[in-house]
Amino acid sequence: MNLLYDWNPYFVQRTAEMLDLLRRLVEIESPSHDKPAVDRCGRFVAEAARQAGAEVTLVSQSRTGDHLVARWPGRKEREKGFLLLCHLDTVWPLGTLAERPWRVEEEQGRVYGPGCLDDKASAVVVLAALEGLRDVGIALCRPVTVVFNADEEIGSRSSRALIEAESARAEVVFCVEPARPDGALKIARKGTARYTVTALGRATHAGSDHEQGVNAIEELAHQILRLQGMTDYAVGTTVNVGYVQGGTRTNVVPERATARVDVRVRTAAEGVRIAAAIESLRSISPAARLAVEGGLSRPPMEESPLTMGPFRRAQAIAADLGMSLTGGSTGGASDANFTAALGVPTLDGLGAVGDGAHSEDEYVLVSSLPERAALLAALLSRW
Ligand SMILES: [Zn+2]
Repeated sequence: MNLLYDWNPYFVQRTAEMLDLLRRLVEIESPSHDKPAVDRCGRFVAEAARQAGAEVTLVSQSRTGDHLVARWPGRKEREKGFLLLCHLDTVWPLGTLAERPWRVEEEQGRVYGPGCLDDKASAVVVLAALEGLRDVGIALCRPVTVVFNADEEIGSRSSRALIEAESARAEVVFCVEPARPDGALKIARKGTARYTVTALGRATHAGSDHEQGVNAIEELAHQILRLQGMTDYAVGTTVNVGYVQGGTRTNVVPERATARVDVRVRTAAEGVRIAAAIESLRSISPAARLAVEGGLSRPPMEESPLTMGPFRRAQAIAADLGMSLTGGSTGGASDANFTAALGVPTLDGLGAVGDGAHSEDEYVLVSSLPERAALLAALLSRW
């Protein structure tokens, strides 16, 4: 058996171990906003990475969980390495596990549980691949750095600088986020922007002084229609007013109303255009005022040689394993958006296959765990 080409059976034999690790990770709940919880998950992952041969550094944070940087040496220590990205945090609050515990559906070949696909299965795939290579004595062709960040689901504000600094030393970035439901890797991702639009009017008594009032909710309602109207599916731009708040009670003309807006764009140029359109919103009523805050949070990862180059190379390596890899795009952003925007070749969606991330139906296809570990082991040893 030539292990350079024949990773599949090796990892298939390890499926039960991988599932056991996934279960333990899912059972350490780690919502982004709960530092002690994310740190518990981080300590567990740090220990598992050390057992797989890594040197692990903790990057302490005061508000979010601590980020982990795990390093494995390569054959040639001096050259640029591989940077792998995955995250410790989930969108699920503490207590979700009690409502929806870990569940195995044998017939479907699926496992369920909060955060199982996004992104805990990715940590399992990464650790299994690196442990497998060490186990059979195959060297990494380049040094490997894995950043397990603690705040991906809330925009990676505290980990972005770390990820960008590490990517400067990387030949290629492998973002180990869930694959598309059909197993495809992600060669393009939309960029995201967030805005808060606040309308300010004048509060008066709705009965005795209605005429003197300036209704902020009315003003905001006009702005909401304008914002929603900026959606253009043909060019891939969506504008979603996802949250509104305003007023105090029915007998008061409301002084203040706020909308929060999520914007997705396919290209950087479209991002600039839509930002200008939103920032130039003006009030309809001359007596009302409008305040617009926000901007781009993750730049788009456009399909380009930076994503297609690594994809073609991965396709060739996968073909030797008997796998045919496909590529696709998604509206969701990830940390790959940051590294691709800096000009570092980036391949995304190398995590497990499944569906329902951020929903109650989130699941992982069990057979994809050994497949993805085999793919990653092959990439790390043959790139
Ligand atoms: Zn994720």
